[in-house]
Amino acid sequence: MAFKNTSRWTFSNVLPVVFVLGIIGMIWWTYVTCHLLGLHRSEVHERTHMNLVEAIVSQTLVILMLICFVRAVCTDPGSVPDTDDWTGKTGSRTGASSEPQVPIAPPCHEVKQNGERRFCNKCTKYKPDRCHHCRVCNSCVLRMDHHCPWIANCVGFRNHKYFLLLVFYSFVNCCFIGISMGGTVLGSMEEEMDLAFRFALVFGMTLTMVMGGLLGSFLGFHTWLTCQALTTIEFCEKSSTFSRSISYDQGLFENIRAVLGPRVFLWLLPVSPPSGDGLTFFVHGEFKAFPTQDEVHALLSSKPEEDSSAAAPEVTGAKAAAV
Ligand SMILES: [Zn+2]
Ligand SMILES: [Zn+2]
Repeated sequence: MAFKNTSRWTFSNVLPVVFVLGIIGMIWWTYVTCHLLGLHRSEVHERTHMNLVEAIVSQTLVILMLICFVRAVCTDPGSVPDTDDWTGKTGSRTGASSEPQVPIAPPCHEVKQNGERRFCNKCTKYKPDRCHHCRVCNSCVLRMDHHCPWIANCVGFRNHKYFLLLVFYSFVNCCFIGISMGGTVLGSMEEEMDLAFRFALVFGMTLTMVMGGLLGSFLGFHTWLTCQALTTIEFCEKSSTFSRSISYDQGLFENIRAVLGPRVFLWLLPVSPPSGDGLTFFVHGEFKAFPTQDEVHALLSSKPEEDSSAAAPEVTGAKAAAV
């Protein structure tokens, strides 16, 4: 399923992305010209081993950060398939009067408070567990975390890893630049240099520290959410009694694998996204909100006359378990 959505590329949505690239470019330019190359100095600066190490490390971090940025922006976060079982064309979602009365959509655990299956009227599809509709992207997004204006994209099942790594490498970059450029900034207070370079150094350092502080808190929050098997939306919905009854927690290691992918040695690289289809998830305290396809067929073949009431006991049971 391709990422067909083009409505997100409006001027107002692109502006924050350009802003982020501008900040990255500004800090990078300051670091390279004023710190690594020392262009602000009147005499030729002697290159040291440390200079070379700093250049290699900082540019590697920048490249990793930019790859994560591009992948977070361009990767489809995941949408609901166009197949009949998700569009509901072969079943009834309300169990009202049309045939067959039992919903055919794949099983899920999250249902509405009245026991009905979650259905998106805009996409005209059933919503799998953890899926939400994004008004900006105008699409239902699998395991939606939030819509991020800075990448003009939703953070969902397929690009969550790239988003997390983007925040991680941005934070590490800020820390590395802040520590390695600190001496140059302090030195600029005593050295003779062009005022523009001095301003660039102080401004670049201030920007780096502010961004580092913001990214550090954001990274801490998202790391905690990942360890708890929560998305930002689920964290915000925690006050709801209904939502609290469902937990996707599989233990620390599996929770991290569910976001960073199955191979531990590739966790910090922008490759190897998590396995799975983003439609079904491990649920703590397994209970069924709706019957599976096999159960539907078994039910229909064994009790042909009772089809009009077949969905009711399952829904009631799920509702009772959820509340
Ligand atoms: Zn939708
Ligand atoms: Zn979105």
